[in-house]
Amino acid sequence: MNSIRKWSWLVIVVTVFSMVLMAGCKGGIAGSNNLTAANAPLTVKVLDVGQGDAILIRAKDQVVLVDTGDVPAKDELVKMLKSQGITTIDKLIITHPHADHIGGATAVLQAFTVKQIYDSGQKTTSNLYKQYLTQIQKKSIPFTVVSAGMTIDLGSDMVLTILAPDKSPITGSEADLNNNSIVAKLVYQNFSMLLTGDAESESEARMLKKDASTLKSVVLKSGHHGSRTSSSVPFLQAVSPEAAIISLGANNEYHHPHPSTLKKYQDKKIAIYRTDKDGTVTVSSDGKNYTITKER
Ligand SMILES: [Zn+2]
Repeated sequence: MNSIRKWSWLVIVVTVFSMVLMAGCKGGIAGSNNLTAANAPLTVKVLDVGQGDAILIRAKDQVVLVDTGDVPAKDELVKMLKSQGITTIDKLIITHPHADHIGGATAVLQAFTVKQIYDSGQKTTSNLYKQYLTQIQKKSIPFTVVSAGMTIDLGSDMVLTILAPDKSPITGSEADLNNNSIVAKLVYQNFSMLLTGDAESESEARMLKKDASTLKSVVLKSGHHGSRTSSSVPFLQAVSPEAAIISLGANNEYHHPHPSTLKKYQDKKIAIYRTDKDGTVTVSSDGKNYTITKER
């Protein structure tokens, strides 16, 4: 082989190798990576459940579900979880008792062994909420009301830090149930993701006032389905995420996400993922790097 040919081969080999490396790299805290949902110790799936939230966290040793989507998606949610090989949910977190967050709770409680519930402590008069409570009582599932300052240990160096609600709830806002949503920061070494439920600007302001530095996160689950009542500028400044994931249904009646919210993300060069267009969005991390992949 003459030297020109040798060099050509070297260039081809190096190019192909770089392409393979880059194919798995959608985002990284540092350097390139080839993390996938299959090999990462931590995956967070913002599930496509139409209009609503259902977020599946798979830590090394634990399965955590944050919210359960709305009623029309409940069978689909159970199917999605079963297709992941899940039979037990170690922790079910209900951010607040609106239908698009507790709609699938009863179906989930019937289909899986749920070991522990974490709840915002907010009560409503809806039948859905009553059925959720009845099911928990029937199955004698431990029920913990969480508040800011608590931590939920997921093992293997992964932890959920609760940032809201406070023990004294927000009152007199236009959407108190939303504003007293559980807000939890998932931390795994250098990776972090802020799960906001439907917390709106009043809750954001309270968290900012208390300790803005704790909000900084690599990925943000967009508050309240990308509504304009969440993602206030000072809040985004403090969180300063590289990517935001919006959970919402296509052509939803609330017209989420609001164009002004999308514009704020674009102005800050935050990568936008949305379940209505991308399907289920999966974040995988090894604590150093992370990858975000889309279902479609
Ligand atoms: Zn909602």
